[in-house]
Amino acid sequence: MAALLNQVFFPSTFQELFNAWNRFPGAVPYAGGTGLIRGQGKEILDLPPIILSLDKLEDLQRITRTERYLEIGAMVKLNQIIRIGKIVPEALTRCLEKIAGVQLRNIATIGGNICYPTRRLDVSAPLAALDAQFELRSTQSTRWISASRFSSLPGPTALNPQELLTRIRVPLDQWDYSIYKKFSSGRHLNSSEVMVFMMKTQKNVLTDIRVIFKTNTILRDKNSEAILIGKHLPLSNRIAADFVQSWETFLSGMPDVEELSKKELVNCIELNVYNLSE
Ligand SMILES: Cc1cc2nc3c(=O)[nH]c(=O)nc-3n(C[C@H](O)[C@H](O)[C@H](O)COP(=O)(O)OP(=O)(O)OC[C@H]3O[C@@H](n4cnc5c(N)ncnc54)[C@H](O)[C@@H]3O)c2cc1C
Repeated sequence: MAALLNQVFFPSTFQELFNAWNRFPGAVPYAGGTGLIRGQGKEILDLPPIILSLDKLEDLQRITRTERYLEIGAMVKLNQIIRIGKIVPEALTRCLEKIAGVQLRNIATIGGNICYPTRRLDVSAPLAALDAQFELRSTQSTRWISASRFSSLPGPTALNPQELLTRIRVPLDQWDYSIYKKFSSGRHLNSSEVMVFMMKTQKNVLTDIRVIFKTNTILRDKNSEAILIGKHLPLSNRIAADFVQSWETFLSGMPDVEELSKKELVNCIELNVYNLSE
């Protein structure tokens, strides 16, 4: 009986995967395993009793590119994405480069980072800023969900039971200014805080801006962004100050965000927006 309770499946097709998942609804997908075994310094690892290894699903390893999108399979390793080179939007590359060390990035997958069940990891911030979409597959259907919605839904995960993340579609827009900042990683053992600040310009007019702050959720304030859209560069000091003030007001309505985090974020926003001013 014990053998029945500890099993690892290696499906090579989605049909095999979902057949096994239907038989064992509590089975857990295993990508690189770095999240599943994180923090275990023991000789014998604690693993879920029934594992669905995603290793042999070739569709999940694919990277494809069209004129408008980069499509990344959920099993693509973090370092493989960095190595694609300069077509990868800068905010995403900078984020990946700051995740742990090279050995971990050779094993950890983008799907595992997005689907980590107990907290929001770093990749969700640039993917939300870039308007990425996730393909989610279950026995019966396939659906697409935006990265920002996936990362903002309440609860430990936006995945339905027995649902698999299969593909990440990243728009290949040209962003003229991309900043990725990771805050004081030592302060929170259980969650990191990162900011993405990106903007597009056309003939010195600011045509789009995204500022995303990730704590355990994704924060974005479209009212603040509207203050800058359509303005000429360099910005006037008054408009830069209005933008900072607007973010302060937005954050004051977020009791779950620590005061120190708010201060760090506002300082960083201030620095970046005044860089664009007279
Ligand atoms: C020392 C160390 C330092 C780290 N530092 C950072 C850091 O600075 N920033 C950061 O963001 N992360 C950090 N991490 C976390 C790391 O990025 C994640 O562990 C990793 O991305 C998870 O990927 P994985 O392929 O190993 O996933 P796994 O461990 O295999 O899976 C993680 C979870 O996702 C589920 N899952 C995996 N793939 C899918 C899928 N396709 N569909 C549905 N569910 C799926 C699994 O069932 C599991 O619950 C660190 C981890 C370690 C060990």
